[in-house]
Amino acid sequence: MSGHTELVVKGGFGGSFEAGVGQYITIIDLDGQQAGDFVALNRHDLSEGLSAVRTRRHLLSLYFSVGDELLSSRDRPMLKVVADSIGIHDATVPACDPTRYSVDFGVDGHRNCLENMHEPLIPYGVDILDVPEPFNLFQNSPVVGDGRTGVVDPPSKAGDRVVFRALMDVVCALSPCPQDIIPGNGLAVSDIRVVVSDTAPEE
Ligand SMILES: [Zn+2]
Repeated sequence: MSGHTELVVKGGFGGSFEAGVGQYITIIDLDGQQAGDFVALNRHDLSEGLSAVRTRRHLLSLYFSVGDELLSSRDRPMLKVVADSIGIHDATVPACDPTRYSVDFGVDGHRNCLENMHEPLIPYGVDILDVPEPFNLFQNSPVVGDGRTGVVDPPSKAGDRVVFRALMDVVCALSPCPQDIIPGNGLAVSDIRVVVSDTAPEE
């Protein structure tokens, strides 16, 4: 697979895209302060997905940095972090889903990241239960001294970006999080741009 793909995923909705081994995936927070839930699957075996929990064990860290490899559910390197203008992402919090809004906020039918990521994966035959736990790009979930954590607004500015290199053929899904009830996206849900390219993007 080669070529150049660009898409803008509308804030609060979801989109999917493919990348071949060796290609670069650039994910850009267009307006700033927008978390984007992100998953990847092995395009040739959709039962293998990007795994935040296995990556945390591999890195011995809650966070990833440039040069790190993100692992699959079979402990195989799936993506390599090659650039990151912000350095603050979350790998601990599940995707928001219908019960997050109905149970925690009393709102039924709210758009949510789990369904946003699942919908564009349906044509691939992915069941909603097989959508991996996400990496939440640009999401700010600081861990404080006593081990407590939480979700607050991201510090990302317009144009901040993270770049991955695909280490296997992948299909990915992204959801610019529709959370507009509590902080997490600056209470203003906005779009995220994705660029898949054969060559490393300009810094
Ligand atoms: Zn969300």
